[in-house]
Amino acid sequence: MLDSTVTTRTQEVLDTLNAALAAGDVDGVKALFAADSYWRDLVALTWNLKTVEGPEGVADMLSQQLEHTAPGNFQIQAGEMPAEEDGVITTWITFETKAGRGWGLMRLKDDRIWTLLTALQELKGFEESRGTRRPMGAEHGARKNRTTWKESREADARLGYDSQPYTVIVGGGQGGIALGARLRQLGVPTIVLDKHDRPGDQWRSRYKSLCLHDPIWYDHLPYIKFPDNWPVFTPKDKVGDWLEMYTKVMEINYWTRSEVQSARFDETSGTWTVQVNRDGEQVTLRPTQLVLATGMSGKPNMPRIPGMDNFKGTIQHSSQHDGPDAWNGKKVVVIGSNNSAHDICAALWEADADVTMVQRSSTHIVRSDSLMEIGLGALYSEEAVANGVTTEKADMIFASLPYRIMHEFQIPLYDKMRERDADFYAGLEKAGFELDWGDDGSGLFMKYLRRGSGYYIDVGASQLIIDGEVKLVKGQVDHFEEDAVVLSDGTRLPADLVVMATGYGSMNGWAADLISQEVADKVGKVWGLGSDTTKDPGPWEGEQRNMWKPTQQENLWFHGGNLHQSRHYSLYLALQLKARMEGLETPVYGLQQVHHLS
Ligand SMILES: Cc1cc2nc3c(=O)[nH]c(=O)nc-3n(C[C@H](O)[C@H](O)[C@H](O)COP(=O)(O)OP(=O)(O)OC[C@H]3O[C@@H](n4cnc5c(N)ncnc54)[C@H](O)[C@@H]3O)c2cc1C
Repeated sequence: MLDSTVTTRTQEVLDTLNAALAAGDVDGVKALFAADSYWRDLVALTWNLKTVEGPEGVADMLSQQLEHTAPGNFQIQAGEMPAEEDGVITTWITFETKAGRGWGLMRLKDDRIWTLLTALQELKGFEESRGTRRPMGAEHGARKNRTTWKESREADARLGYDSQPYTVIVGGGQGGIALGARLRQLGVPTIVLDKHDRPGDQWRSRYKSLCLHDPIWYDHLPYIKFPDNWPVFTPKDKVGDWLEMYTKVMEINYWTRSEVQSARFDETSGTWTVQVNRDGEQVTLRPTQLVLATGMSGKPNMPRIPGMDNFKGTIQHSSQHDGPDAWNGKKVVVIGSNNSAHDICAALWEADADVTMVQRSSTHIVRSDSLMEIGLGALYSEEAVANGVTTEKADMIFASLPYRIMHEFQIPLYDKMRERDADFYAGLEKAGFELDWGDDGSGLFMKYLRRGSGYYIDVGASQLIIDGEVKLVKGQVDHFEEDAVVLSDGTRLPADLVVMATGYGSMNGWAADLISQEVADKVGKVWGLGSDTTKDPGPWEGEQRNMWKPTQQENLWFHGGNLHQSRHYSLYLALQLKARMEGLETPVYGLQQVHHLS
């Protein structure tokens, strides 16, 4: 009985919503939203990634988009039942727009919409060839001069020479590969370019002890899930092999040993001229769309410190450090105290190096098992799968929590972890390690979304610090001497190797390198929410700056992030590109504004 009441109440809201949308009645829609409410739209109505807030925000968005996008037919998703918990009714929904079909999640409080997620899933008339639409492969019957699959793949290899791709993706890590797979499925002629020898080398080239910090359920790529014998935390070379296999079987046009040297946009023709060094051959590509998937952890932030040039030992950025083997018995100083710094210190300790970590500012640490259980378990775990929470559903539930209030959901989880691991944190503090929990106590995910740095998921290095096996020094590096690093308080740390685990710069730095400083500035900072917390200056953006959505530079896009983001957001970027290729109307609501240059 209760369920049918909940269903009826939900249906009434959807019926009223459909009637108001059909009548172009913006005020009618506005009245359905609670005073404190959020509508997050992924491409369906806004042709952007956009969260609008409150009835006024909804009205503003609809007054611009309603006529062009004609959303309607909001329904409870077939086979799903709305559920009520703590006064909130949650329901999976489907809907349509003029251009496509979508999926989403709606939460009601007091029969008013509290949160609404609308996410475009496919374009009408351009549905992917999957499931019942899968290609036949074989063409039965007899036909002269037929083309085999192999021959058509060989013809694909001429893309870029005999014909031009619509899209060029610079960077063939997991981001470029996931997007390349989606665009291939959507029939968008695309080339993925990477300077490495093989797909997956992005991971192979990292320090040898690295395993993914996120668990397998969070890491799937689109279309092909990891098999169920796959380890929970994938070793980096195994990720590399998976990416290489995936690139091949998803038939991605992937050029290895191909470095993009420059890219220029011609306003008149609306195309890019991309200069590529393909294994020594100079190739010019002329795509319409250019995607930088060059890595948010790809542009090393390497501070220039006095005396570096005279240092007689070796200085490496963490991205250049390939492992501890050469440093047995040597003195190593690692500058920084986030993920890479910890992983590198632990591996060096295992190889019997004499390791010192220099902590410059506070770091947020969570133990991996606590994070898995308390932070991720409900959405990404074997238990979640058993409860019917597929990866796709988990991604949508995660996406349905508006960034504005996400920290409110996160804070209690991290309070729980702090309590559960109290002895561990006491040990770290006793060792002199400066901890934080994010500016507002909201922990790791918020730090990742806001600034992409400032944390370590503990898989063992913290105990080495607690036990004094990895020495810990607090302070700022002042200068280098020939054989040592000297901190501003005069502490002198003799070193054969100094690893600068000093993080990575904003992705618009890639635009500066490959296109121009002018375009980098025109686009502005990439990443962050505008939360006005450390390293994420305001004003409030509501979405990740410049990621997966139109930028101030026509036909220039940024893609990347962790495996979850690459998987989920590659769909929305792919649909935006496909729609443009097909000449669909794509009016963008709330184009990204620029408040910071980097
Ligand atoms: C140490 C470390 C651990 C991490 N652990 C995790 C984890 O556990 N889980 C997770 O999800 N994420 C993790 N990440 C974050 C993120 O997932 C990785 O950085 C990931 O590699 C990003 O993928 P990407 O495709 O966006 O960029 P990248 O993998 O960095 O790929 C970018 C590619 O662009 C290429 N490129 C750059 N410039 C050019 C050019 N001019 N021409 C041609 N090619 C170019 C590079 O060769 C590179 O292959 C980690 C990152 C680091 C650094």
